[in-house]
Amino acid sequence: MNIIIFGPPGAGKGTQAKKIINHFQVPHLSTGSIFRENIKNETPLGKKVKAFMDEGRLVPDDTVVDLVTDELNKEKYNNGVVLDGFPRTVAQAEALDSYFDKKGSQVDAFVTLSVPEEELVNRILSRGEGRSDDTPEKIKTRLKVYHDETAPVHSYYEKKGVIKVIDGLGSIEEIFERILKALS
Ligand code: ADP
Repeated sequence: MNIIIFGPPGAGKGTQAKKIINHFQVPHLSTGSIFRENIKNETPLGKKVKAFMDEGRLVPDDTVVDLVTDELNKEKYNNGVVLDGFPRTVAQAEALDSYFDKKGSQVDAFVTLSVPEEELVNRILSRGEGRSDDTPEKIKTRLKVYHDETAPVHSYYEKKGVIKVIDGLGSIEEIFERILKALS
């Protein structure tokens, strides 16, 4: 089962992705986490993406698509994946589709977490993860990038009929129950 968990920064994608992977026993692929790990370890990929991430801008599509397709080729993803933070542009969604097409696979569900904008900023500022892109200025950039470049990905999958829109307000458990219900 291939699931995409989608929504603006601060919507709770990572939190819900972890619960989904536990429940369905499919691996998690978070592009943001992979990039942060590479930055921490000062790898060539980390050096390449650091400036983009620090500014709250998107890493170029070819870099992200190469990373994700290499990763998805690993055996552990044979039975599916929970994609978190990818695809983030229509070009990335098209690349993912053609990857799945070649493998005879497809996106089974596209779960959008819907959360009002003012709540997003509060959540990011109060989660206190110490991320370099969690300052008010960078959050503003990330939200703008989300509206301009990422939100169109939702319309792209809408045409494919796989979208589940989930109310992202409530407790972590309540939101997870809504997701399970939508996926059943
Ligand atoms: P959030 O959803 O809170 O912004 P992520 O961890 O998903 O957090 O992403 C953090 C940053 O990592 C993004 O602002 C961007 O710079 C980079 N990034 C992650 N995934 C992608 C992607 N699919 N395409 C381009 N950049 C990405």
